[in-house]
Amino acid sequence: MSIEGQRVIAIEEHYWDKEVAASFSRGAAIDKARPGLMERLFDYGELRLKEMDESGIDFQILSHGAPSTQRGDAETMVPLARRANDRLHDIVAVHPDRLSAFAALPTMDPKAAADELERCVTRLGFKGAMVHGPTNGVFLDQKRFWPIFERAQALDVPIYIHPANPMQAVVEAYFKDYLEDFPSLLQSGWGFTVETATHAIRLVLSGVFDAYPGLKIILGHMGESLPFSLWRINQSLSRPGNRSTSFSFRDIFCSHFWITTSGNFSNPALLCSVMELGVDRILFAVDYPMVSNQPAASWVPTIPLCKEDKVKLLNGNATRLLKL
Ligand code: MN
Repeated sequence: MSIEGQRVIAIEEHYWDKEVAASFSRGAAIDKARPGLMERLFDYGELRLKEMDESGIDFQILSHGAPSTQRGDAETMVPLARRANDRLHDIVAVHPDRLSAFAALPTMDPKAAADELERCVTRLGFKGAMVHGPTNGVFLDQKRFWPIFERAQALDVPIYIHPANPMQAVVEAYFKDYLEDFPSLLQSGWGFTVETATHAIRLVLSGVFDAYPGLKIILGHMGESLPFSLWRINQSLSRPGNRSTSFSFRDIFCSHFWITTSGNFSNPALLCSVMELGVDRILFAVDYPMVSNQPAASWVPTIPLCKEDKVKLLNGNATRLLKL
């Protein structure tokens, strides 16, 4: 294993729990459009490890795929998330040298979600949590969700904000005319990016990072385009007429966010991100099995960074942030 002699840790790598997957209805459509994907989502060992070996990926942080436990009612999702996290613990316990985990949280009950995060980190050895888009249509910047962030700060673990399908009103207004010919427009084609970048911007504006100055957030997909737009967002939001001309979106974003390379193996995008955030905040990820390991692995040798910086990207930053 390893690529160019370096240990490779990939931190946005998905699986589906059978009971959680039965609570949403993406399965049949995905199976038809992407042969082999369902098999990989439900593979917790043999095929996953074989494909890691073939591409030189040493270690995966497993997380449930979207929408995970962000849709539905608390009565169902609180105990379901607990069962799913217990099963995920059993999965990674078989291969502790190859796999670890991010928790699924029942965010519709923020106190229960905070408790489940604590249980997963302190009892199951998980490295943080992943949350998929708004919870039943509400973004996490709303104050009722802040107990989750308070607990994440107390535990010193990151929350990974991952995309899910955009809300129906957004689908109608922005995308529906093109979905028949380009269904991916709703997802990694653009819809995921818009929604997740908006989620991150709302978190910055909400003041949650003033309340919890140790809070750490991870974004995938090379920061969901935010590094490219950082100068303009920062300049605009500090113009007269906004809350304060000393408000710095850049300072908050660059002190609380880490980004990963999941599904975005672009050297121009990486170099922009390095220039805006610094290499210490960029972590390797594939987005397996939505994206296969091979394009990520073959991208690594082309990355125009010095060896020390590449090592940070491939394993050093993850080891520090996730305390591996
Ligand atoms: Mn993903």
